[in-house]
Amino acid sequence: MEKKFSALQRGSLTGQLQNQYFDLIIIGGGVTGAGIALDAASRGMKTALIEMQDFAAGTSSRSTKLIHGGLRYLKQLEIKLVAEVGKERAIVYKNAHHVTHPEVMLLPLIKGGSLSKIEAFLGLTLYDYLARVKKGERRKMLSKEEAILIEPLLRKDILTGGVSYYEYRTDDARLTIEILKKAFELGALAINYTKVTGFIYRREHIKGVKVKDLTTGTDYEVKGSQIINAGGPWVDEVSMLDNFAEGKKLHLTKGVHLVVDYIKLPLRHSVYFDVPDGRMIFAIPREGKTYIGTTDTDYYGKLEEPEITAKDRDYLLKACNSMFPGAPLSPSDVESGWAGLRPLVKGKGESPSAISRKDELFVSKTGLITIAGGKLTGYRKMAQRATNVAALRLEKGGKDYSSCSTKKIKLSGGDTGEDFEAFAKEKTQEGVAVGLPIEDAAFLAKTYGSNTTILFNYYKEAPYDKLLQARLQYAIEHEMAATLSDYFIRRTGGLYFNIAEVKKTMENAANNMAKLLSWSDEQKQLNIKELEGKINAIELINKV
Ligand code: FAD
Repeated sequence: MEKKFSALQRGSLTGQLQNQYFDLIIIGGGVTGAGIALDAASRGMKTALIEMQDFAAGTSSRSTKLIHGGLRYLKQLEIKLVAEVGKERAIVYKNAHHVTHPEVMLLPLIKGGSLSKIEAFLGLTLYDYLARVKKGERRKMLSKEEAILIEPLLRKDILTGGVSYYEYRTDDARLTIEILKKAFELGALAINYTKVTGFIYRREHIKGVKVKDLTTGTDYEVKGSQIINAGGPWVDEVSMLDNFAEGKKLHLTKGVHLVVDYIKLPLRHSVYFDVPDGRMIFAIPREGKTYIGTTDTDYYGKLEEPEITAKDRDYLLKACNSMFPGAPLSPSDVESGWAGLRPLVKGKGESPSAISRKDELFVSKTGLITIAGGKLTGYRKMAQRATNVAALRLEKGGKDYSSCSTKKIKLSGGDTGEDFEAFAKEKTQEGVAVGLPIEDAAFLAKTYGSNTTILFNYYKEAPYDKLLQARLQYAIEHEMAATLSDYFIRRTGGLYFNIAEVKKTMENAANNMAKLLSWSDEQKQLNIKELEGKINAIELINKV
């Protein structure tokens, strides 16, 4: 059987997990775990990754979706962090043009705002230097008139000028999946819907994990030498499974984003602007919508599916209405949204926005390696640090796993050459030749990069609903999508950015998935019900 990252090969995968001894077992399939899997597999470690929900279902599908240098951390004098993530930004882009798009960002300068003109100039100059920003993408200082010309919706009475600079927009969940697909290609095994429920010990050292397959209820064990806890907001819960746990490390804060139709807030560029309480938020146009975020409040509730409250919604709408008074938004304009939890490493008495976004590593007495904190953007460096610790411990057994090469590894779909526009143009023609409308062909080429031909082949073979079927089949057979929500949230982002289309195609998608995954009628109905529950929760955002 051809080895694919496919939901259809789940049976064989669980068999392999039980029958092998791994150098490294990773708990958590968010961007941190995925990055570690890629790094470890590319160093030659026999690697397994275990995820209890879908891959990226935690924070890694709930971010602001920017690969960014973290300009605001300069205010906190986190120079090293800014320098590192700034440089990482360029590496993520180089290795995955299809999930990272350069985006002009406008920073309006306002009376009483968090940055004066001189601070913005010095800060962004330092940022360009620390992040080694390319010549064409460096900051440009703007007069008030120039800022208004670029973004006519800005509030004019308090505006003093602006700065334009570059950031990169991503799809966080797709980025995570592309990293995992590459890790799998290099030999790592990864499985979703499988929860780590405990540890296996040998002479008080962790030498494996007890797991439950949540799709069948079966318990089994996965054995290995080194174990990394990359549980994101669940890091403490995972640590507590250890008999020798050493106290909680995380401080969780919630960040909410709202989505409105582009027509309601038709920004020409992404804008990063001041909010009267001293924070800053983004408004980002994308795929016919504009999304706004984020809040940053302490969080103590349940970790799965954190809710968006009326207070979160009103805070963001008020902030937007204050900066863009010509395009006033009301709760009924909100079409979708999401809430994510920042797994921040505890500080002493700081406000949520002030806690460092740095990552930290801990090794317990039992040998459990835990990595927490950090950013999507810095995933590769975080992975390198965590994998280095595992490598050192493995090397005591005489092996050499010290060299990290992920800087040069293209993610799955990333073999597009330097000129991505030329690549996309050529692929689009290929798509048109198999009968795709030009916009759909271009969309597929830009989304799936060098994997697009596989989708074109599925498209050719599909008897009806060809585009939906091609994307679904690819998601199942190459991206391990196992539920309707996996497809509509993590593989396509549809629930966030095109909820109307999700409602329209949900039934057809369910029928297709049922056929491909041999679902019973009951399984199909359960899937539809689960997705409907999510749609209802989102639609409540504008009613609460
Ligand atoms: P997660 O993605 O949460 O992954 C942890 C995984 O572990 C989960 O999928 C969970 O199901 C799994 N897990 C937990 N327990 C178990 C168990 N017992 N068994 C098996 N699996 C388990 N960063 C940026 O660079 N750019 C941004 O624009 C940005 N914006 C953000 C906006 C918000 C609102 C938030 C909250 C964060 C943002 N970040 C951003 C930070 C970034 O999103 C996170 O740092 C990153 O996604 C964390 O990834 P992770 O893999 O550590 O955690």
